[in-house]
Amino acid sequence: MTMAAAFNAFKSSNLVSWKQTGRLQQTLAGCIERAGKTLHSGEVSTIKIWPDLAGQGRYFDFRSNSILASIDFAEESPLCTTLCKNGFRIRTIEHLLSALEATGVDNCRIEIQNSDPEDGNVEVPIFDGSANEWVKAIKEVGLKVATDHFGNSREKMAPYVIEPVHVWRNDSFIAAFPSEKVHITYGINFSEVHGIGCQWFSSTSLDEYFYSEQIASSRTFCIYEEVEQMRNAGLIKGGSLENAIVCSFDKGWLNPPLRFPDEPCRHKVLDLIGDLSLFAQFGSQGLPMAHIVAYKGGHALHADFVRRLYGKI
Ligand SMILES: [Zn+2]
Repeated sequence: MTMAAAFNAFKSSNLVSWKQTGRLQQTLAGCIERAGKTLHSGEVSTIKIWPDLAGQGRYFDFRSNSILASIDFAEESPLCTTLCKNGFRIRTIEHLLSALEATGVDNCRIEIQNSDPEDGNVEVPIFDGSANEWVKAIKEVGLKVATDHFGNSREKMAPYVIEPVHVWRNDSFIAAFPSEKVHITYGINFSEVHGIGCQWFSSTSLDEYFYSEQIASSRTFCIYEEVEQMRNAGLIKGGSLENAIVCSFDKGWLNPPLRFPDEPCRHKVLDLIGDLSLFAQFGSQGLPMAHIVAYKGGHALHADFVRRLYGKI
């Protein structure tokens, strides 16, 4: 595909304008391999992340099925983000994609395997509930400029929000306003859980350094009294005090210390970056250039926002 054809192929809407970033698309300088327990199924899965050509974007490879990390394949699912294609499902992709998006791994093949060859569902390992393990692995192996089939590098494009845009569900919302840099402001409100309460977190200009230092190590959180209900729904079978921070209504945090006083709110930013990465196309940036303000969001609302950017809803 020529550059002009690739540019024309970008899915767009009247809310977003694709512009050059002045940077070249990147990929990994080597292969990453990690295995670990998964949060919802409790099974162990293995991931190998391979360098790939410029323009390929990020995609999963599960049983020789290629599934682009794109909103086109996102399926609404409880408590995680899931990709689905031809009956194959890959769950809990958000922390890995968040790390890849934030550190600039624009193109890669993510080979994933589960232990049961009959099972068409697979899940990304949870590790400590944050994106730390992935960021560490990416830094260890390093990045390089990605080239295409002809050995040419490609400019990285980014989506600029050109007018205010918003989505909401009940009392949750996400709004984005034009900005030359990415800023994220996120609010959560657990007024009945005193250990969490109402929290707001606002990033300065969100770059790789800020992400690594301030966001990546924030862990998944849950409410202790809701654990049994989630287990009964077939979720968090692999959940433990090692891969989430757990807060009780009246007893507070069960496994302190927190890494930041507002760690739950920061984790929502981590999740949002992973979910918005599904807007990436052909090795572009997925995270929109905008000041994004979110309140009480979750994966479903994050996905709605990406669809809104496309003009699909
Ligand atoms: Zn998360």
